[in-house]
Amino acid sequence: MTRLKDMKISDILAQGGKAFPSLEIVPPLKGMTKNELIESIRPFMEFSPKYINVTCHRDEYEYREKPDGSYSRHLVRKRVSEVAVCGAIMSEFDIETVPHIICGGATAEAIENELHDLRFMGISNVMALRGDSMTGEKRFTPVPGGYRYAGELVEAIRRFEAETNGQKIFSIGVGGYPEKHFEAPNIETDIMNLKKKTDAGADYIITQMFFDNSRFYDFTDRCRAAGITVPIIPGLKPLSTARQIESLPEAFSLDIPLELTEAMKAAGDDREAAYRTGTEWCIQQCRDLLRHGVPAIHFYTMGRSRNIVEILKECF
Ligand code: FAD
Repeated sequence: MTRLKDMKISDILAQGGKAFPSLEIVPPLKGMTKNELIESIRPFMEFSPKYINVTCHRDEYEYREKPDGSYSRHLVRKRVSEVAVCGAIMSEFDIETVPHIICGGATAEAIENELHDLRFMGISNVMALRGDSMTGEKRFTPVPGGYRYAGELVEAIRRFEAETNGQKIFSIGVGGYPEKHFEAPNIETDIMNLKKKTDAGADYIITQMFFDNSRFYDFTDRCRAAGITVPIIPGLKPLSTARQIESLPEAFSLDIPLELTEAMKAAGDDREAAYRTGTEWCIQQCRDLLRHGVPAIHFYTMGRSRNIVEILKECF
């Protein structure tokens, strides 16, 4: 199938109308084929998601032993690039793709080159993020000549447009944290920093996952009070294993409500019971968000389709 449209997410959101789902996928590990990727996302297509986000992962250092016993350091990319994945999706489905761009590990020149590639491919949407620090690094450190904050990246993208043809080429999304970014001293400061990103030209916000909708409603109220006017899209991920009640708070600095924690613990080793509990909770979250009039719901698929498909069937 060939793509019929070439729409900016900001235009899709401005159209209003019925709330829609969007999806986020992680690029496959090197070695997976385009067909395998396409078949892994095909089950979502019957729900007409408006766009698919493709995450970006910085290269990692790997140490290889040399014959003399010493080690050499190599920069290794484990996954197919987000640009290649977007190209593969667009060649198969009539859907917008949103590659993520991160500051981490990238010079200003590397980012500018990627923007040229995206423009060449007819991609008109990007998500601008800082990325996390490298494993073993205490605080995020930009590479020399790179960007320190996502807001600087947003400014750089808008500068690129001004220097290229003076017109808006990309609709830019940025990340928001209903439970505060883990490095921010308090939620007020974090939201002031979020406003710097929208003031720099970001068109909309997608939130980190959360499991208690009241955190999202409180966050949107605080954003509005701080003068942030762009659409705020909730990001959701259904729990699917009992282990995630420990791994997700650790990885994403978020809370899992007591009721959900207890229910997942009760499921214990019964994988199907844990799956059902997590899926049901997410369905209730979705229904409540839709009743509150959110413009869209963004699903972190993390390589799983069964639970997301079930939730989409119930809610969209
Ligand atoms: P920033 O907005 O730069 O914020 C980082 C910290 O700096 C915050 O504490 C903030 O309060 C503070 N800050 C921001 N601006 C300023 C300023 N001007 N002055 C002082 N302090 C400031 N990571 C990936 O590696 N790849 C991905 O594809 C990816 N996708 C994501 C998608 C979404 C929707 C979200 C919410 C997160 C995603 N992440 C991804 C994770 C993200 O990179 C990390 O959470 C990272 O630690 C922060 O990124 P950010 O863009 O929010 O950073």
